[in-house]
Amino acid sequence: MRYISTRGQAPALSFEEVVLTGMASDGGLYVPETVPQLSTDDLAAMAGLSYAEIAFRVMQPFVNGEIDDETFRLLVTEAYATFSHDAVVPLNQLDANHFLLELFHGPTLAFKDVALQLLGRLLDHFLKKRGERAVIMGATSGDTGSAAIEGCRHCDNLDIFILHPYQRVSEVQRRQMTSVLADNVFNVAIEGNFDDAQAMVKASFADQSFLNGTRLVAVNSINWARIMAQIVYYVASAVALGSPHRKVSFCVPSANFGNVFAGYMAYRMGLPVERFVIATNANDILHRTLTANDFSKQELKATLAPSMDIVVSSNFERLLFEAYGRDGTAVAALLERFQDEPAALADAPLAQLRKLFASHSVDDATLLEVIREAHHRTHEILDPHTATGYRAAERERGDASVPMITLATAHPAKFAEAVVKAGFPGVPLPPHMDDLLERDERYTVLPAELSAVQQFVAENRR
Ligand SMILES: *Cc1c(COP(=O)(O)O)cnc(C)c1O
Repeated sequence: MRYISTRGQAPALSFEEVVLTGMASDGGLYVPETVPQLSTDDLAAMAGLSYAEIAFRVMQPFVNGEIDDETFRLLVTEAYATFSHDAVVPLNQLDANHFLLELFHGPTLAFKDVALQLLGRLLDHFLKKRGERAVIMGATSGDTGSAAIEGCRHCDNLDIFILHPYQRVSEVQRRQMTSVLADNVFNVAIEGNFDDAQAMVKASFADQSFLNGTRLVAVNSINWARIMAQIVYYVASAVALGSPHRKVSFCVPSANFGNVFAGYMAYRMGLPVERFVIATNANDILHRTLTANDFSKQELKATLAPSMDIVVSSNFERLLFEAYGRDGTAVAALLERFQDEPAALADAPLAQLRKLFASHSVDDATLLEVIREAHHRTHEILDPHTATGYRAAERERGDASVPMITLATAHPAKFAEAVVKAGFPGVPLPPHMDDLLERDERYTVLPAELSAVQQFVAENRR
């Protein structure tokens, strides 16, 4: 299998190349050229298997023989052994037919661990094979940075530099990054805001000469391997609820659309899915696009569900590529228009998307109400991101006889601000992290200057 760009111009790549590459050279994102199929028998045979074994079976066709089965199975097993729950991603039944899929039992308490625990190992495997080293650079306002650091801390062939805005991330989020004292982990606090940090990372990818030829790798959600790893929990949870013999629906708290696109891939592989409900916070581009065909940027709003605060939803491009019949030229034209002015989808692709996707947007005031309401009904304290999903699932549930699986994307202890605002005394960190606030930290404060950051990276990479 090869991987092709959503804009139709960049060269097709192998799996190894696509893992080591971020964005395609034509500005598009990579997707598999063909979608591997899971037959009814394949799905039925997954009943009762471990998460790691299901993960191996779902992902193996995408790897395309570029890693031998035994090694790949080992990488997968090691990745998911870092989760603190034996089921890795347990299902928690909320009422007669509504389930929470708890994706927050990984090292940093948010769903990004599912993908980044595997991605770090895949990168290290390929770099070792090639006898190369690489540098990872990323900017974070929270969840991605810590998940990337945890995913790479044991990787001999990688050095990771994560930039966060100085004194502008929560204490828990900062400590999750800065208390990892591994030799290959470098936390940089930038004296500026998140956009400054992001701009410096972008500029470093655009001109990599400061690294003298060492490969620079991106671990943001446009990396195909992250999508691939996320397909697994859609399959595993549906199988646990009786797939392929009955359909399920999913509700996904969404921002960059990586998570829900993985669900769509599971559907395209043959998983029987009734519908996907997209939940957004007040940053509602996905909701506006689906309901009003308003595909336009709006100003960023800071919300109580900060990991969903986005203006542009980068992975939506992958879905547009499918909706436009894989016409890269049409996708490129649409996205180029969207860069500069409000855009709209053509009628046929939009109609097609509306058959499978519903959406709902939840503002901050409603979000607090939902946390209280969900607790009253189910005794669960939801994190603010999951709360958007809970409300969207209830509002857009459709056929009530179809099980609804809402993805719980973070542990409530990680987002205490919203939980406290909703009137709860807070949520303790899970036992394996309860000393987080006492652990030693290491980070470097730098001015928001590209040259200072690049010099730091060049001098400290190993
Ligand atoms: C990243 C994140 C999301 C959004 O996921 P996307 O794949 O960007 O749509 C939702 N909730 C939490 C807690 C996150 O960290």
